[in-house]
Amino acid sequence: MAITIDYKKCCWKNGKCTSCTCGGKCEGCVEACPAGALKREKIVKIDQSKCISCGACVAACAHGAISLRNV
Ligand code: SF4
Ligand code: SF4
Repeated sequence: MAITIDYKKCCWKNGKCTSCTCGGKCEGCVEACPAGALKREKIVKIDQSKCISCGACVAACAHGAISLRNV
């Protein structure tokens, strides 16, 4: 399993949140990940080698930007 981020849906763009609904701090996938596999840089970066395919980030994203799929 691997996660993919749809960067068109993700509101974190060019190092900042562009959502009008979260007050400028998209607390979602990065905070939910128990494995430290996600971080916010200019875009949200995934370290697939750390990901344990738990699905917490999928559930945490209010924008439906993350999916978990078989590879
Ligand atoms: S599936 Fe789990 S371990 Fe993998 S990036 Fe998402 S929250 Fe982190
Ligand atoms: S929770 Fe969703 S919208 Fe927020 S940074 Fe993560 S992928 Fe992007």
